[in-house]
Amino acid sequence: MRRELVAPCGMNCNLCSWVQDPTKPGCKGCRPRNRGCTHLKGLCEKLALQEIDFCYKCESYPCERLLHVESRYNRAHNYSFIENLDYIKKRGMAAFLRREAKRYTCEECGKLLTIHNDRCPHCGARCDRKRRR
Ligand SMILES: [Zn+2]
Repeated sequence: MRRELVAPCGMNCNLCSWVQDPTKPGCKGCRPRNRGCTHLKGLCEKLALQEIDFCYKCESYPCERLLHVESRYNRAHNYSFIENLDYIKKRGMAAFLRREAKRYTCEECGKLLTIHNDRCPHCGARCDRKRRR
């Protein structure tokens, strides 16, 4: 997994279905696209001006906007941006990426799963998002 694919908001673009999809002109991920954060940059001045590179470094962390996208991803995908950010803050990026790889590797084919789907995008094996954490 590539560390530059972890977005300021805590989204891990390595696990995004759009970034991984080989059949579409893929997204390169929030940081490589230089969009700061797809979810928050349009709303956050500090991210837009690149004053901070992760939301956890902000004095307002976790702000209302982050909490909003957090609850949406919690519900829809059983995925937590804030848990990711807290983990990165405490244990560092390398440890975070190891944990993500452990959680999101397909048991059937060994490739990366996505947080957006209940099937492996590479081999189609079922992998219940709700039970992944
Ligand atoms: Zn697979």
